[in-house]
Amino acid sequence: MFRNRWKEFLKESEMIRRLMREHRRSLGIGMLAIFVVDIADLYLPLVLRDAVDGAMSVAHSSQLLVLALTFVGVTLIQAAGRYVWRIYIFDAAVRSAHSLRSSLIRKFFRLPPAFFDRTPTGKLMSLATNDIEAVRMAIGSGSVTAVDALFYIFTVPVAMWSLSPKLTLLALIPFPIIPFYVFWAKRRIQIRFERVQADFSQLSAMAQEDLANIRTIKALGIERSQTAKWTHQSYGFLEKNLALSRIQSALGPTLDFIMSTSMVLLIYVGSQSVLKQAITVGTLVAFQRYIQKLIWPMSALAFSVSFYQRGVTSSKRLGEILALPELPESALKPVGPLGPRPCKGGIEFRSLSFSYPDPINGKPSLTLRNLTLKIEPGERVALMGPVGSGKSTLMMLIPGLYPVNRGQLFVDETDICDWPLQELRSHIGFVGQELFLFNETLQQTLDGTRDNPRATMLSNLVSSDPSEWDLQATVGERGSHLSGGQRQRIALARAISLSPAILLLDDAFSNVDTITEEAILGRLQKRAGRGTEIVAAHRLATLRDAHRVIVLEQGSVLQSGTHAHLMKDRSGLYRRFYEQQRLQEEIESAGPRV
Ligand code: ADP
Repeated sequence: MFRNRWKEFLKESEMIRRLMREHRRSLGIGMLAIFVVDIADLYLPLVLRDAVDGAMSVAHSSQLLVLALTFVGVTLIQAAGRYVWRIYIFDAAVRSAHSLRSSLIRKFFRLPPAFFDRTPTGKLMSLATNDIEAVRMAIGSGSVTAVDALFYIFTVPVAMWSLSPKLTLLALIPFPIIPFYVFWAKRRIQIRFERVQADFSQLSAMAQEDLANIRTIKALGIERSQTAKWTHQSYGFLEKNLALSRIQSALGPTLDFIMSTSMVLLIYVGSQSVLKQAITVGTLVAFQRYIQKLIWPMSALAFSVSFYQRGVTSSKRLGEILALPELPESALKPVGPLGPRPCKGGIEFRSLSFSYPDPINGKPSLTLRNLTLKIEPGERVALMGPVGSGKSTLMMLIPGLYPVNRGQLFVDETDICDWPLQELRSHIGFVGQELFLFNETLQQTLDGTRDNPRATMLSNLVSSDPSEWDLQATVGERGSHLSGGQRQRIALARAISLSPAILLLDDAFSNVDTITEEAILGRLQKRAGRGTEIVAAHRLATLRDAHRVIVLEQGSVLQSGTHAHLMKDRSGLYRRFYEQQRLQEEIESAGPRV
């Protein structure tokens, strides 16, 4: 039974122990300083005893002066020791938190995209903040309190014994109750703490989601219902916190009370011993000091247990993430100094079937079914199909965002499983429906790509009027200072500026009007060094200009051919769709320009 518990302890504390080992130097110096402080603290009551006894007898004032100076000296040593331990222990704790944070962030970048599909961002944020903080506290405050408390618990009774064995036994009578009480409280603290952490993680997930979508929330006018949801969640969090603090608050006073019964016994029996001259007044005073020193370690030990428990709970959560399988090394290998291997831009899907690791509706189903498609280098292919037919998925597979089985997807006749992914991605430009821009100036946004004549490129490629852009203005968080159309144009410019061998445009024109789209497409066509282009779009201009149109339905190729060829099939999905779209664009063209 004991061995099992010990094994369990070793297992659950593995991460905390490893971090402590890594920072053992700072921790060691800190602990040494704590011992100095504590030994000095144990010595002080003895000085006090001699001073009291000396004052009551007819001691020389010079003797009392020596005692007073000793007192000052010892407290000075204590002050210095306290300063040193705080510096070193704090150092170890913040460095541990730093190394944990670094591993976690590194891990985030090495996890496959599927992980982020199923894990709310708020949960990850709470891991990176709250849970790391709990581990830091376990290593810092937790270990200090434990060492300090254990030192007092083992040494104070010895010091007391040396003064009076009888009084020591008497004073320790109430002690055996304490471990039972502490054990009882510790279990409850643990359970309640886990509830608080789980709620916090949900709350930060909600915060993240709401803040990221604040504009949509306002546009839909659902602020009130969102606020109500928040208040409800936050109230639950409050209640769980209060439940935790109720039990934590009871711990100290209850222990204090148990210990004060010890003091009552001491005053009663101790003063009788003084009267009988079995002990001196100084000894009684010193004894009382020692008992007071025992009160704190008892509750502190319980607190250190709760620090430790929190640290373990959080380190388990962190450990689970840190142990997740990473993307294969090929995905992470940086492009070598000779640059990426050349790429012509040929793409081939061979009977490819694909399903998301975590389907949105819970039912595993094939998103792409037995898809066969060969795209020649330099070809412009338009993808068309109803919402959910798999257009985005098909494009996301090309840069290797989700793993596929060997033998199903080839770029330049090389299996995608054999491509070093960073190299492959350096050949691919991608503009998706969700545009992401960092909050920096427009100039920095474009510079971030590669040395290229940005301003001219902008004017040539995406804007009819370059003076429209202020290159030194910041684009705002997620590019919020720009209009949807501007954002898309910048994202396009950024992708195109790399002259990628493969350009993937996933509904990249949804925020610009047809005329702008046609203008951009026209400029795109004219640019030098064009590579392969795959464009998911429903606009007529895109479809007509493509060398080939692929119609997808439920993850399979339904029709394939040039626009003219597909239009011949009167009952085909393409023709029906085309007619519908023409009607829509006629109506749209009467509207304002974006
Ligand atoms: P399209 O771009 O043609 O609208 P998608 O490729 O986005 O279609 O989606 C195809 C199917 O895959 C849909 O049924 C969608 O629910 C599912 N799907 C898309 N993205 C994910 C994801 N990250 N995780 C799980 N399922 C997804």
